[in-house]
Amino acid sequence: MTVAISTSRFADAVYRDRLQRAAGEAAARDIDALLITPSVDYGYLLGYRAPAMERLTCLIVPAQGQPWLVLPHLEEPLARHELGQLAADLAIVPWDETEDPFWVVRDLLEGHAMRAGVQDQMWARFVLRLRAALDPIELVEAGPAMSALRRIKTPEEIDRLRLAARAADEAMDAIRAERFAGRTERELSARIRELLLAAGHQSAEFAIVASGPNSASPHHEPSDRVIEPGDAVVLDIGGIRDGYASDTSRTVFVGEPPREFRLMYDVLQRAQLAACTAVAPGMTAEEVDRADRHLIGEGGYGDAFIHRTGHGIGMEVHEEPYIVEGNAEPLRPGHAFSIEPGIYVAGTWGARIEDIVVCTEEGSEVLNRSSRELISVD
Ligand code: ZN
Ligand code: ZN
Ligand code: ZN
Repeated sequence: MTVAISTSRFADAVYRDRLQRAAGEAAARDIDALLITPSVDYGYLLGYRAPAMERLTCLIVPAQGQPWLVLPHLEEPLARHELGQLAADLAIVPWDETEDPFWVVRDLLEGHAMRAGVQDQMWARFVLRLRAALDPIELVEAGPAMSALRRIKTPEEIDRLRLAARAADEAMDAIRAERFAGRTERELSARIRELLLAAGHQSAEFAIVASGPNSASPHHEPSDRVIEPGDAVVLDIGGIRDGYASDTSRTVFVGEPPREFRLMYDVLQRAQLAACTAVAPGMTAEEVDRADRHLIGEGGYGDAFIHRTGHGIGMEVHEEPYIVEGNAEPLRPGHAFSIEPGIYVAGTWGARIEDIVVCTEEGSEVLNRSSRELISVD
């Protein structure tokens, strides 16, 4: 039988390994079973995205033994099709329309579990019904166990992140070759979304275009403001390519940037590079944050860098580890995250440079390759 499997799936062995390691992470936390409803975690463990809906689908990964996949009977054909050979590794437990799926879960766990971990984004209606049905089994967060797995990327995941980063670079280069003056932020943002898709993303997740005084607002929503000569424009763009996220920022200037802006940009560029260069195994996340913050402070813009240096990235745009003061976690090979310092002068202008960086055995690899120079656009 040939099954059409989407190109974004890895080999079955990858998911077998992930399921086993998830069981290990649960055991290490005294959790007897992880309850994973449709979410990024579910996709990470099984290689497909089940629809999140009112009928309960729940992957149960026990600390010991074979995982169960509890799902509505009508979803079984789709799940078997998507899972392919991996279906043989799971006990698939379909429930009928008139059955209570929470009692199905209870029957599976009763006598085997004292503590169960619930997926971080599980709907409240499921959490509350599980709590009632599973009583006295204690419910805790599955998040720490799942994050321990997902925060270290394998070489095949880094390949995906690299391809996503290159696709974002392609879109960034393309938009910087276009005319800015006379177009609205909203028009330019829509154009960037087209370019992200054309470059190979399956979905364009965000396209921030913050021009003129708006560039001083890090998460500005594209507006009807018409871009004009003399504007700094912060572009922060990304999408999902084969299941993995891209996220990059560049700043352009419409026309010739004034000296004051150039000086500020120079401080930012040196700081961003210093943080990228600081990345190495054993460095802590907060030390990387300090590397760029220190230089921005010395340059006189300490109060204008109003957010953390970066965030982890993988199947989601924002995930652990966070590159922020207070996170003393040592970096390890396989950590992938953004380095995105910014300087924001309220009411006047702002700038941000963002690259995705991977911690490697030797030091670091910067995945984004598009120019970080201050480019002047028309
Ligand atoms: Zn952000
Ligand atoms: Zn970004
Ligand atoms: Zn980011």
